[in-house]
Amino acid sequence: MKRLFALASTTAALAAVGLTAHAAPTPESRIGEPAPGSYMAQRAAIPAAQVAAARAAADRDTRLLERPILRVPFRCHETWSGASRSGHSPSYYSLDFNWGSGSDDLGKPVKTSAAGTVIISSYDAGGYGNYIRIAHGDGWHTLYAHLQSRGVAAGARVSDNQQIGRVGSTGNSSGPHLHYEQIKDGVVVAAKFGQSNWATYPGPANYTRIADC
Ligand SMILES: [Zn+2]
Repeated sequence: MKRLFALASTTAALAAVGLTAHAAPTPESRIGEPAPGSYMAQRAAIPAAQVAAARAAADRDTRLLERPILRVPFRCHETWSGASRSGHSPSYYSLDFNWGSGSDDLGKPVKTSAAGTVIISSYDAGGYGNYIRIAHGDGWHTLYAHLQSRGVAAGARVSDNQQIGRVGSTGNSSGPHLHYEQIKDGVVVAAKFGQSNWATYPGPANYTRIADC
C-alpha cells in the first residue's frame, strides 16, 4: 500500500524499535524476495523484547477491550506465512500472507475471520486493488486486499468461515499474497487470532486456522 496514515501509536511503536515510518513506502514485496536493506534484514536486528514492547504500546488502547474472535482468514489446516515490515502501509500491524512459494497462493480461497457485514467491496487501482472490508461490531473491522476476485458485495451479511474472494496480486502488489488488517475504530491494531494467538511482529510466523472451520 502506498498510502500511509499518520497513526501516532504506530509511529511511536516504530520509534521504539528504532524504525521510522516512511512518507513513500516501497511497494509490496513478497516473502522470499527481500530487497537489499529490506525489512527481512531489519527485523532480524530487532531484539524480541523491543518488538514485544512496541506491540504492547501500539495495542494499549485496545488490549483491555473485548475483541471479537477473529480467525486466520483461510481454509482450516492450511499453514500460511504472515509478515509485516518497516514501511508497510498503512500500518506496521498489517500482515502479508503467503502460502507455498512463487505464485502457489494465487487463487486460493480467502475466508472471513468472523461473521459480519461487508461495508466495502471495491477496487483501488493504486493501492489495495480488489479489497473487502467487513464490520464485526463495536468498531472492529477486518480488511482483505489485492484479491484476484471478490465474491461478496457491500451490504452483504457474511458468516464465519465464508469464502469472500481469492488471493491475487491486484493494485500496488508485486506478487500474489493476501494483505490483511484487523482494525479498531479506524486504527490498524496488532492482529490476534482466536483467543490468544497474537501475531508476531515483524514476523514472519506461521498461521493456521484451527477452529470455526
Ligand atoms: Zn501488505
